[in-house]
Amino acid sequence: LHKRAERRVSGKLVLGVDIGGTKVAAGLVDWRGKVLRAERCPMIARGSAEQGFRAVRDAIDAVMKHTSENAVAAIGVCSPGWVDSKRGVLRNAANLPCWRNFPLAQKIEKHCGLPTKLANDANAAALAEARWGAGKGYESAFYVSLGTGIGTALVLEGEIFEGPAAGAGEGGHMTINFRGPLCGCGKRGCIEMYASGTAIAKRARSLLRNRSSGRSRLLKMTSGEVSAVTTEIVSKAASGGDPLAKKILEEAAEHLAIWLGGMIDLLEPEVIILGGGLGRVMTSFRSHIRRKLEMWTVNPHWHRVRIVSAQYGPESALVGAAAQWFAPHES
Ligand SMILES: [Zn+2]
Repeated sequence: LHKRAERRVSGKLVLGVDIGGTKVAAGLVDWRGKVLRAERCPMIARGSAEQGFRAVRDAIDAVMKHTSENAVAAIGVCSPGWVDSKRGVLRNAANLPCWRNFPLAQKIEKHCGLPTKLANDANAAALAEARWGAGKGYESAFYVSLGTGIGTALVLEGEIFEGPAAGAGEGGHMTINFRGPLCGCGKRGCIEMYASGTAIAKRARSLLRNRSSGRSRLLKMTSGEVSAVTTEIVSKAASGGDPLAKKILEEAAEHLAIWLGGMIDLLEPEVIILGGGLGRVMTSFRSHIRRKLEMWTVNPHWHRVRIVSAQYGPESALVGAAAQWFAPHES
């Protein structure tokens, strides 16, 4: 597997597969990063290892049955969690309890007869953006996936910087306040506790409970039900001008600035790409982030670092999984 994984494809299509906690998406990707055909199947994440694998097989077969076999050169898969990309093994993922140390790449190779590579999903999304999306043309990109949690990846000259054990680029659990709240990862005050979707919704609910915010649009939107306030509702209320919702997102932006200032000092990336479900929302607070950045970076050229919104939507990880097979100069 390792030897074959070094080989790149040229000209042909690659099947990209994105496995999540609730669904599997599979689609054909060409060398320009375009998705030609995609299918989705429900993921069975809480059954046996074999049941989980069958869901992946169903998604792959749904695409392959419409495709002539020799049009596809290889398969690129991605999943959340701790992935050993060199061996193609999924070590473990909180959202995929069906698998532990599961040789996913090998199983798919055996089923399809095609060489298969496995990547972490945030890394895959970063690769898609760096090769074909918002990071195209830059030598270095820092990718941030803002969703339920915060995932990050560093792309240098079109390749993910993984480190010897594939653990590098994990920026979402960098502490910005060691007295801060306890994170699910075991550390305190991770940036994920301040600027992820989960953190924003939690902050909104606690502010609404603790003070007389009866007139906030947030409460009108949920008919007064504080527990029904989600990140989506907060961002909708903010764009509608609700002061409380705006304040909550500005606070998240300020925390992002503290964190990104450190990233700029450490990495000096040419571009910072904000992706994930909240990427676009937080990019709209870019000027707020920039104002605060001045205080939180010592790099005299910090203002040259671009902050942009990701270009791919929910397909980014699928496209990036396939991108593993294309050489950087091909894109
Ligand atoms: Zn953490």
